[in-house]
Amino acid sequence: MDQGLIPAAEAINKLIQEFNKLPGIGPKSAQRLAFYLLRAPEEQSKLLAESIFSLKQKISLCSTCFNVTESDPCPICRSDKRDHSQICIVEQPQDILALEHTGIYSGLYHVLHGAISPTEGIGTEDIRIKELLNRLQDGSVKEVILATNPNLEGEQTAMYLSRQISPLSIKVTRLARGLPFGTELEYADDVTLTRAIEGRQEF
Ligand SMILES: [Zn+2]
Repeated sequence: MDQGLIPAAEAINKLIQEFNKLPGIGPKSAQRLAFYLLRAPEEQSKLLAESIFSLKQKISLCSTCFNVTESDPCPICRSDKRDHSQICIVEQPQDILALEHTGIYSGLYHVLHGAISPTEGIGTEDIRIKELLNRLQDGSVKEVILATNPNLEGEQTAMYLSRQISPLSIKVTRLARGLPFGTELEYADDVTLTRAIEGRQEF
């Protein structure tokens, strides 16, 4: 056997292993991606490697809304074109991408980074609830839209937040119409999501 093949094979195996650790990528897909990159122009691997590297270097969390950002506060929190009297509560930063894509919401956001889940040991202290309640203290927010996922954890979280926010005399609404129970926001299509925002109900 040609000795020169061994390091190359090791490099491929290593990449396959790393791809395999990513969500939604099984061993077959990991293999396909690794061999694709092997054939693709070197520039493509370089760009991919650089974007993965700069992800951790450049991206941090907005200290106001906890969305991912390259500058703090993030462009949404900083913008005077956004309605600062509305805050939409989401579980993950990618939910903001989904909502922004609909183009009909112009308020601010708050990212909880999770949902309350007693079965997984995630309590109210483990997600950004305290920070949200702090944001609501100055009276400038008139409406909070609960856009947690329409599943068990999302519902529990929405119920808890509603109980915490209601005494502050802030209107609390919840995305409703159109979103099937058990789904995740980031996978909802634009039409469904648009209807859900427009049809939000008092919670
Ligand atoms: Zn922000």
